[in-house]
Amino acid sequence: MNNKRHDWKTEEIMAIYKMPLMDLLYKAASVHREFHDPNIVQVATLVSIKTGGCPEDCSYCPQAARYNTDITGNDLLSVQEVKKLALKAKSSGSSRVCMGAAWRNVKDGEDFEQVLEMVRTINKLEMEVCCTLGMITENQAKRLAEAGLYAYNHNLDSSEEYYKKVISTRGYQDRLDTIKNVRKTNVTVCSGGIIGMGEKVADRAGMLQALSSLNPHPESVPINALVPVKGTPLEAEKGVEVWEMIRMVATTRIVMPTTQVRLSAGRTTMSREGQAMCFFAGANSIFTGDKLLTTPNPDVNEDMKMFDELGLSPQKPFTKNKQPATVEAENSLLKSLDEKPKWSRPLHKI
Ligand code: SF4
Repeated sequence: MNNKRHDWKTEEIMAIYKMPLMDLLYKAASVHREFHDPNIVQVATLVSIKTGGCPEDCSYCPQAARYNTDITGNDLLSVQEVKKLALKAKSSGSSRVCMGAAWRNVKDGEDFEQVLEMVRTINKLEMEVCCTLGMITENQAKRLAEAGLYAYNHNLDSSEEYYKKVISTRGYQDRLDTIKNVRKTNVTVCSGGIIGMGEKVADRAGMLQALSSLNPHPESVPINALVPVKGTPLEAEKGVEVWEMIRMVATTRIVMPTTQVRLSAGRTTMSREGQAMCFFAGANSIFTGDKLLTTPNPDVNEDMKMFDELGLSPQKPFTKNKQPATVEAENSLLKSLDEKPKWSRPLHKI
């Protein structure tokens, strides 16, 4: 029995990551089978509801306004546009929609009210609805929960030490504070990171140590491989080997046994065999759609062909946690506080 632990040491996690691959795969697959059906994989769709023009300086991100990239930005999509995209995702086998907005933090006002309406609308489509909107306050988290939000994504990205080398406009503690605010509600937590940004194995293990020290563990941990984008500070990174992705997935599975491990960005460069090994090692979710916010992703038909070949079935919504109720705006007990929170800017220069 693999009891859930919140006291993993970074060195212990590194030792797992560096195990002989066959031993690592065997151990991870055994843990996976103890807590999950190995033939079920959740299909999720990421919808960029507001693209580009972000004031932050995440070195990997083409949406940061300060980098000269080719992405086409857009203002906040309408509720109807998002509903249409969610229905399309549902008909392609998705049970979860993650709405991403390129914001530093949520600001109370018209745009947030529109996002709350999107949450109500998608929850009523019987899909798990997740948002990634930047930093949020406790009241904003409660309002999202009341609207029917199922999950909130806020990645730690890397270890606390390496994080400072990748982002200067906000601190690691801001990330943890947002996760803490989400934990004051029934909304589940999705938090993971990116490998291939020039970090060491110790940083990968450090990130998993930080995530696993949260009690409870995040219900969902996305593992992304950097997709280097021209115009960003990380454009020259060489990308990760498939073995690194397999090791990272397997280690995450062992350290956080009941968590949904999401094989996220970077799948376009992975063979089906590589992805199959990730599923064997404990990945039990993928994102479909030809774009992951702004970076390329395999086509949904290709993914469904892969599912057929591997004998995998898509996970139904709300199999891990129950569907939240939706409270309509007019019945809400919570109001906008018109908050102006002071999130940190530790090393910000501009
Ligand atoms: S990762 Fe998010 S917060 Fe960072 S620059 Fe991109 S959109 Fe902004």
